[in-house]
Amino acid sequence: MKTLVLDETQIAVAAQLLKNGGVVGIPTETVYGLAADALNGEAVAKIFKAKGRPMDNPLIVHIADFDDIRRFDLVSEVPESARRLAKAFWPGPLTMIMKRTDVIPPEVSAGLDTVAVRFPSHPVAQAVIRAANTPLAAPSANLSGSPSPTTARHVLNDMDGKIDAVLDGGASEVGVESTVITLASEVPRVLRPGGVTVEMLREVLGEVEVDDAVLHQLREGETAASPGMKYKHYAPKANVILLKCDDTAYISYVNARADDGVCALCCDEDLLSLSVKTVSLGRRGDYLTHARHLFDCLRKIDENGTIQTVYSRLPSTEGVGLAVYNRLIRAAGFEVIDLENL
Ligand code: AMP
Ligand code: MG
Repeated sequence: MKTLVLDETQIAVAAQLLKNGGVVGIPTETVYGLAADALNGEAVAKIFKAKGRPMDNPLIVHIADFDDIRRFDLVSEVPESARRLAKAFWPGPLTMIMKRTDVIPPEVSAGLDTVAVRFPSHPVAQAVIRAANTPLAAPSANLSGSPSPTTARHVLNDMDGKIDAVLDGGASEVGVESTVITLASEVPRVLRPGGVTVEMLREVLGEVEVDDAVLHQLREGETAASPGMKYKHYAPKANVILLKCDDTAYISYVNARADDGVCALCCDEDLLSLSVKTVSLGRRGDYLTHARHLFDCLRKIDENGTIQTVYSRLPSTEGVGLAVYNRLIRAAGFEVIDLENL
């Protein structure tokens, strides 16, 4: 597989691969995406194969201009709420779900009557979409279930030999996948938290619901509004355990379990007090930085090779903290030890 260093020529090479039905890893501001021509079902099927992604998990369609929605006839009706959100947050880490047209191949929508659309802000992602002159379906470029990739190296680690190329556009700025909001329900509802926070969405739309699956595990037999939310996800091979407790309790709990196979996924302020291996998300309370570092930290834990158990504090659900909470609780398979109410 080629790693394409960025200039106009390489963007043209990537665009040509995509036009020919190939699959290319591309940088976006959220995480790296595994892109294929969204209007070519056969090309899209290759994404599922490379990732080992269940076919019932739909993909996000990436465009390079709000007007691409109309130009490529992606949705049956653009709701007024979509225009307002686009004005406030596009290009950027927000995905909107709307009623689809028949232009969308069944592989993209996984049998649903809706389609998820995003206009990314990353200049390389925009350049590739424009050069390919087609919308690109692009889920995160990781093996299904493992932490999402935020660098071209992460993509290579998971996808070498399985895809045609990866474009190296540096580390992703946001670090967690886009916020997903459905506009196909009566009240707009957040299905996945990300860089655009619930608070920011409410400022533009007023009433916005947050789907139950954002914070909680689905019960047996319950259907997921966002199919991706039902899978164990974002997980390193090591066992992640979340602790609900204050900083002092966290440090003493982890230090009491000091062992070669133990690691603390912590904040900078904890580093001097911990007597186990550590990987830091950044300064305490700096949720933007925690989001940016989260997946790289989870991948580093696996790269260490000896770590079997990871202890982290249950993240805050404030602002972008909610996106970190949502990913970590899935990485932990919803395992939380409540030290406050033992
Ligand atoms: P990824 O592409 O890996 O970032 O995952 C895309 C996320 O968006 C998954 O959680 C999908 O289930 C969700 N998604 C994509 N399209 C739709 C849709 N039409 N309806 C509901 N959720 C969707
Ligand atoms: Mg993903």
